[in-house]
Amino acid sequence: MQKKKVIVIGAGFGGLTTAALLARNGFNVTVIEKNSMPGGRAIVYKEKGFVFDMGPSWYLMPEAMERYFNLFDKSARDFYKLVRLDPSYRVFYGKKEQYDIKAGLKDNFNTFNLMQKDGAGKLKRYLDQAEYQYDIAVKKFLYRDYTSFFDFMDRDLIRDGLKLKIFYNVDKMADRFGLEDKLKKIIGYTMVFIGGSPKNTPALYSLMTHIDLNLGVWYPMGGMGEIPKALEKLGKALGVTYLYDHNVIKITVENRMAKNVITDKGTFPGDIILSNADYHHTETKLLEKRYRTYSDGYWKRKVISPSSFIIYMGLSKKLKNLVHHNLYFHNNWDEHFQTIFDKPQWPDKFSYYISCPSKTDPSVAPRGKENLFFLVPVAAGLVDTDEIREKVYEKVISHFEDLIGEKVSDSIIHRRIFSHRDFIGLYHSYKGSAFSLAHTLLQTALFRCARKSKKVKNLYFTGQYTHPGVGVPMNFITAELTAKSIIEDFS
Ligand SMILES: Cc1cc2nc3c(=O)[nH]c(=O)nc-3n(C[C@H](O)[C@H](O)[C@H](O)COP(=O)(O)OP(=O)(O)OC[C@H]3O[C@@H](n4cnc5c(N)ncnc54)[C@H](O)[C@@H]3O)c2cc1C
Repeated sequence: MQKKKVIVIGAGFGGLTTAALLARNGFNVTVIEKNSMPGGRAIVYKEKGFVFDMGPSWYLMPEAMERYFNLFDKSARDFYKLVRLDPSYRVFYGKKEQYDIKAGLKDNFNTFNLMQKDGAGKLKRYLDQAEYQYDIAVKKFLYRDYTSFFDFMDRDLIRDGLKLKIFYNVDKMADRFGLEDKLKKIIGYTMVFIGGSPKNTPALYSLMTHIDLNLGVWYPMGGMGEIPKALEKLGKALGVTYLYDHNVIKITVENRMAKNVITDKGTFPGDIILSNADYHHTETKLLEKRYRTYSDGYWKRKVISPSSFIIYMGLSKKLKNLVHHNLYFHNNWDEHFQTIFDKPQWPDKFSYYISCPSKTDPSVAPRGKENLFFLVPVAAGLVDTDEIREKVYEKVISHFEDLIGEKVSDSIIHRRIFSHRDFIGLYHSYKGSAFSLAHTLLQTALFRCARKSKKVKNLYFTGQYTHPGVGVPMNFITAELTAKSIIEDFS
C-alpha cells in the first residue's frame, strides 16, 4: 500500500519532532521551511567566529527530550553532549546584591535564608508542592490531548485538576507559602519562559520551579542549535525530506480537504497537511477565510505572550562577573509586567536576562572572547523603530556595565539587535510575539488552539500554539499528541 503523504509546514521544534515520529509510523513526510536551516525560533547564526543561538538557551526538563528520543530507541546522548550547569544561574537584585543559584538544592539553602527569613524552609515547602504538581501534570495532563469539554469530565481528571491549583495564579501560590519579594522573583521569572507573568499564569505552572531548581539547568555542548540538527538527522534516517528556503504562500482546499501546499518554489500535494508555522499566520495568510477555524475576534481576545528585545553581541575580551545564565531583577518587577500585559508600551525600567554560553562552551566564541545574548521581555505588537531600538540598547548596555562593574561598549566586535519586526519577518510571528499564546487558564489544555482544523478535514497543527504549549520540552511532547491524532485518523 502506498504511504500517506504528509506535508509539514515549518521546521521548528514542533514540525521537526512530529515529522520524525510520523515517518517512524509509516508516513511519507516532507518538511517545507521558509528559512535556510532547521530550528524555527531556535536557529543559529555565525559571525566573526561567534555562534549565536537566536532563541532558546535554557535546556530544561531533559526527561521530555529523552522520552522522545527513546521512542526511536535512541538517547539525546547519541546526538549531543549534555552538561548540567553549576551554578544554574546568577541572580542580580542590584549592583551590590547578587547570588548564585547552585545545581544542588541544599547548596542554596543559605542563599535562600539570606534572601528572606526562613527562606529555605518556605521555598522547600513550595517546591514540594511544585514537584507534586509536576508529577501529576506529567502523568495526567501534559501527554494527554483535549478535544472537547467532555475530556475534562473524567472524575480522576477533575480531582487531579483541583490538586493542580488551576484556579489561582503562581503569584498567589507564592504568597500562600509565605514567599517574599526576592524568592518570588526566583519562582516567577520562569513564567516568562512560557509566555506569561506570575499573575496571569495558573499555579499549575509552579511546576516550572521544580523543573528549574530540582531537575536542573542543562546545556547541549555546541549550543541549542544541536537539538534541531539532531532531529533533522533522526528524520533523515527515517526518510523524511527537508526543503529549506521554501516559503509557503497558500494551502489549497477542495471539498473541505487540503490538497496542495503552494510555495514560492513550486507546489507540493499531500494527503495530510500539518502546519507548524505560527497558527495565526497559517489561518489568516495561507487559508481562504471560509476555511479558518478562528475568527478575527478570537485573535483579538487572546492574551499574546511577550515579544523580546534581543541583543546578540561578540566581545573582544572575557568578562569576570558573569556566569552562563544571568538574571537581573529590577525593583519595578510588577510595573514591567504591566507594560507587557496590561498597558502595552516600551518599558522605561526593566528586568532582563543575559546569556553567556562562552563561559561553558569554547566552540561558540573565538578564544579569549565572549558570546553574549541580552533579552528584555517586552509587549507584543509594539512599534519597533531603529530609534527606539537604539534607545533601549543604550539603556541595557549602560545598565549592564554598571551592574557588573565592567566596561563592554569599548570591546564590541559584533552587535545585532532583534525585535518585533524580525520575529515577524523571520518566523511570521503574530504581533512579533516570541512565545505565541500566554499560558493563562483560558489558554491552557483544551483552551489552546485546536490540533485539528474544524473546517478542513486533513489539516493539523503542531507546535507551541497547541497543547501543551510553549518551550522546547513542550514541543517534544506536542509531537506525540499530534502524531497520535494523525495516526488514529489515517492509519
Ligand atoms: C527568544 C526566545 C527565547 C526562548 N528561550 C527558551 C528557553 O530558553 N528554553 C525553552 O525551552 N524555550 C524557549 N523558548 C521557546 C521555544 O523556543 C519555542 O517554544 C519553540 O522553539 C517553538 O517551536 P515551534 O515549532 O512551535 O515554532 P517555531 O520555532 O516558530 O517554528 C515554526 C517554523 O515555521 C516556519 N514558517 C512560518 N511560516 C512559514 C511559511 N509560510 N512557510 C514555511 N515555513 C514557515 C518558521 O520559519 C519556523 O521555522 C524561547 C523562544 C524565544 C523566541
